[in-house]
Amino acid sequence: MQKRVLVVEDEAAIRDMIAFALRKADIEVAHAADASAALVAIADAPPDLILLDWMLPGMSGLELARRLRGEEGGAEVPIIMLTARGEEADRVSGLEAGVDDYVVKPFSTRELVARIRAVLRRSQADGDDGSIQVGGLRIDGPAHRVFAGDAEIKAGPTEYRLLHFFMTHADRVYSRARLLDQVWGGSVFVEERTVDVHIRRLRKLLEPHGLAHMVQTVRGTGYRFSEA
Ligand code: CA
Repeated sequence: MQKRVLVVEDEAAIRDMIAFALRKADIEVAHAADASAALVAIADAPPDLILLDWMLPGMSGLELARRLRGEEGGAEVPIIMLTARGEEADRVSGLEAGVDDYVVKPFSTRELVARIRAVLRRSQADGDDGSIQVGGLRIDGPAHRVFAGDAEIKAGPTEYRLLHFFMTHADRVYSRARLLDQVWGGSVFVEERTVDVHIRRLRKLLEPHGLAHMVQTVRGTGYRFSEA
């Protein structure tokens, strides 16, 4: 089935260039010039992925990402952020806002399409996930929801995948490289420190339920998920 990407970018020239490349790659394109137009477009027809420019007039791309992640229904749409800034701190705040990947301007459309495909593949693979329960945590696979006891945990797409992987591979130690390979699909574009950012986000999600200790750091090696 053809995938639909919403491009949120105020610069018409960049928007058109992206739209051209995506359509050539057999991806349907919708666009919005700012955050409020994006919110209308998303409510109108939820896209399979949002390509979001950081610098937008009015509400920034980062604010929009935060807002979407906090919303019912918006929590699961994968987001790739376009940014002209290369600073690590900005990238980290984006990842913490729930962004799935980054593309730094200027970029090649080939690289952009490759990253979009990688993120779409990952979110599609989630659809085959089964349900699983470990300790007080439960994933309802078909409903794509996470519960701690009776309370729902609103996990973004990457945290959901990470948690699902951990729960189906409990009590084993995984290096960052292995986790990247298993959870991110071995994307050559993602750095190992991205794993740490998402581990932090996952712990933050589990913390209010007293379950953050299940995600354990194994010094010098990586991470382990365990009830103990
Ligand atoms: Ca812009």
